[in-house]
Amino acid sequence: MLVVGGGFGGLTATRALSRAPAEVTLVDRGNHHLFQPLLYQVATGVLSEGEIAPPLRGVLHKQANARVLLAEVTGIDLEARTASAIGSDGAPHVLPYDTLVVAAGAGGSYFGHDEWEPFAPGLKNLGDALRVRARILGAFERADGSGDPGERTASLTFVIVGAGPTGVEVTGQISELARHALRPDYRSVDTASARIVLVEAGDTVLAGFPEGLQRRAAHDLDQMGVEIRLSSTATNIDPDGVDITDADGAKERIACRTVIWAAGVQASPLARTLGEAAGAEVDRAGRIAVQADCTLPGHPEVFAIGDMVSLDHLPGVAQPAIQEGHYVAKVIRARLGGDDPPPRFKYRDKGTMAVIGRNRAVVDAFGVKLGGRPALLAWAVIHIAYLVGWGNRFVTLLRWFMALAFRSRGERAFAVARPDRAAAVDDRA
Ligand SMILES: Cc1cc2nc3c(=O)[nH]c(=O)nc-3n(C[C@H](O)[C@H](O)[C@H](O)COP(=O)(O)OP(=O)(O)OC[C@H]3O[C@@H](n4cnc5c(N)ncnc54)[C@H](O)[C@@H]3O)c2cc1C
Repeated sequence: MLVVGGGFGGLTATRALSRAPAEVTLVDRGNHHLFQPLLYQVATGVLSEGEIAPPLRGVLHKQANARVLLAEVTGIDLEARTASAIGSDGAPHVLPYDTLVVAAGAGGSYFGHDEWEPFAPGLKNLGDALRVRARILGAFERADGSGDPGERTASLTFVIVGAGPTGVEVTGQISELARHALRPDYRSVDTASARIVLVEAGDTVLAGFPEGLQRRAAHDLDQMGVEIRLSSTATNIDPDGVDITDADGAKERIACRTVIWAAGVQASPLARTLGEAAGAEVDRAGRIAVQADCTLPGHPEVFAIGDMVSLDHLPGVAQPAIQEGHYVAKVIRARLGGDDPPPRFKYRDKGTMAVIGRNRAVVDAFGVKLGGRPALLAWAVIHIAYLVGWGNRFVTLLRWFMALAFRSRGERAFAVARPDRAAAVDDRA
């Protein structure tokens, strides 16, 4: 049995098959499971990468029927029942399967403007988080080291595109860094003077949340000194700033050195590969329509789950992937045991939540709507429960306590890029 992707969906399915009479190969292009909901905390210095990215081999070391392969799946042949993959050493693999679970997730989308990516990194994987951390912290360094007032202003201007949970969370953390955590450490600039602009094409922050919580989040962000530009789209991004256009067509240029892209999601290309091979529909976000039992039409041996599928209009968040992972494991166990298949997949909505800042969060779960400190507490309990590994849970709790009590950010190291060093040496010569 082959599982593609060790994220929320694939890892859940693999673990749920631990007692099944099956040999499971979990193939992932990364060596770790990634807890994406906390990526923004790595990007803003609250957590280190290891705390949200345990190695897959470590997670599965006690599961005797599971093995891990570090490789990127590049194709799937539904007729031959094989997946082709490229190993980390570049070697090709052909991986046969009797049952296949594809849970390859989704990546970012720049809505046809991939040329913006170098100037506006997204937040999808560990590399992105470290890149964003370097951008944010590097901007404060640049402001402190520059004698040019224009450069200082641009360096202390941060634009976040997209006001969904990720955009709001990263915006809130930049505000915390600028207004509190970094302030005592800088002599030449007042980091609290940073301008933070959140740009959103829709007419509200946190679309999908109840209206009252949207208003609360917008109010919290406003209190934290964030400028919110609703009904506005980014029309150009370059190394010197962003052009935005509002609903009336009014244009504005914001000179800045840091743009973070938190808009747009595109399913793994494997969804289209499977869709074309099985004749299944693929939507605009590149997600394949699966059947009610998460299988592909005409291929009961192939399951697809998580962010790369469209099923029952479920959102691209962790719970559908986790619940689908459990469900397909149940179907597979029933088949192996010769039992009747379970009824169709049914989603249990466990709610939605976002952190805005210190003691500021919004939670809509199990019919209860919370804001402020109670929401932050509920958010922390739920996220700790879903983190993988007791060590990570303990260290993460400690970090959150330090961040809350002392506003400290313990993970501020970043690699300094020195692109023009050689040129500077040449100039001196
Ligand atoms: C920044 C951010 C914040 C988020 N915050 C929240 C939140 O607060 N709450 C919430 O519920 N959800 C949140 N989400 C969404 C949630 O993380 C996803 O819905 C969830 O991870 C989907 O699970 P998945 O298994 O489908 O995909 P993923 O968890 O993305 O896993 C996909 C796996 O497949 C691997 N892979 C991809 N392509 C290949 C390939 N070709 N070959 C081999 N391996 C491959 C990847 O390396 C990855 O390990 C957030 C997402 C992001 C990016």
